[in-house]
Amino acid sequence: MKSPAVPNTVAAGPPLDAHGRPITYLRVSVTDRCNLRCLYCMPENGIDLVPMDEILTFEEIRDVVKVAASMGVRHVRLTGGEPLVRKGVVDLVAMISDVSGIDDIALTTNGVSLARYAEPLARAGLRRVNVSLDTFRPERFRRITRIGRREDVMEGIAAARDAGLLPVKLNVVVIGGLNDDEVVDFARSTCDEDWDVRFIELMPFLEGQERGGQPLPPATGFVSNAEVRRRIEAALGPLTAGAASDGNGPARYHRLPGAKGKIGFISPLSEEGFCARCNRMRLTAGGKLRPCLLTDHEVDLKSAMRGGAGDEGIRRGILAALATKPDAHHLRDGNRPRRRRMAQIGG
Ligand code: SAM
Repeated sequence: MKSPAVPNTVAAGPPLDAHGRPITYLRVSVTDRCNLRCLYCMPENGIDLVPMDEILTFEEIRDVVKVAASMGVRHVRLTGGEPLVRKGVVDLVAMISDVSGIDDIALTTNGVSLARYAEPLARAGLRRVNVSLDTFRPERFRRITRIGRREDVMEGIAAARDAGLLPVKLNVVVIGGLNDDEVVDFARSTCDEDWDVRFIELMPFLEGQERGGQPLPPATGFVSNAEVRRRIEAALGPLTAGAASDGNGPARYHRLPGAKGKIGFISPLSEEGFCARCNRMRLTAGGKLRPCLLTDHEVDLKSAMRGGAGDEGIRRGILAALATKPDAHHLRDGNRPRRRRMAQIGG
């Protein structure tokens, strides 16, 4: 079979994908295991897990990061599943922070175990955390996550701040009929708290399951960020335009006048041109390099590494993945990721 055209790399800059976008950001799913079972993300009984010997070792992850860094990738984010359930994750952070060229290591977590890990993670070289929190209400938190305690997450957030993992960003997936009545509360919280609240549109995962890959309760569903913003502004007044973003994410940031924290909107479904700004690729826990969260094409880096392909094999794998990165997710044209859930790719 003819291999895909390998795009040119810019000697002194990051690799470019097939559409000329510089790819500077690698998201690494360190495990497909999770200690929560959020309604819209995971079935109650969990998912088919990748066997432990099929999960990338820390050394293998470090090798992929090292080669990616040599090609111009600068940011790494650890995610999952829940990254903090992977034993030794602090050691992995230390290993990545030793990789020359990586200047930003971040973590996306549900926050349940963050109180225990924030300080050691920061000492190992972690710079920032995003904490997923879909509700401030304890009973609702239990309902959405099926297992968790909101208090654990709040303690985790406090520990992250104490450890200097700033700014803490709260990721809120807004689902009509489930938590959309809290968007004003979340927005208002930025007045007194120096966290950034980011509203995320629910993405459809797995063909035929339009509402996040899960049979959500009746009368729940998608709410656009335009609607979220409308409700916030109706209650709290206009948001100031375009507060500075951190430069490497998909969020569009705004602020309430005088607020300590920012309000971000991540609008994969409703923002025209959302994908034009994409700068990322994803490594699954099982070692597949995925150039787009929402399309199923993957390159099997684990088999290449375990077959002795070495750094050059990893480099070729990265270039092959970038050569097939689609211009956009095409969800509105009916494209659906069919092979894996969000939790299996690394959200
Ligand atoms: N366990 C970690 C956490 O909770 O942040 C990392 C993995 S989790 C899959 C990453 C993020 O994906 C969470 O913020 C979760 O809410 C979000 N997510 C899961 N399914 C989603 C969907 N269908 N649409 C939008 N966001 C989703």
